[in-house]
Amino acid sequence: SYVIAEPCVDVMDKACTDECPVDCIYEGGRKLYIRPDECIDCSACEPVCPVDAIYFEQDLPSEWVGYASANVDFFGGN
Ligand code: SF4
Repeated sequence: SYVIAEPCVDVMDKACTDECPVDCIYEGGRKLYIRPDECIDCSACEPVCPVDAIYFEQDLPSEWVGYASANVDFFGGN
């Protein structure tokens, strides 16, 4: 699935939530999270993020790969 990484922290612009056709982007304490079991990999959210925080999981920059597991943890490890 797609994953929201570090640039979203304390930004939470939410342009992505307007684009997501399945409403699988949720607000956390300091950033937004994409629910992995609901994301359909459509990529609609990725280009609208003003801080380039959204990546396909396999394309995450190496320094941000931890955001993939943090994302899964946020939703209870599904
Ligand atoms: Fe939503 Fe598509 Fe982005 Fe997944 S890739 S979070 S389904 S807009």
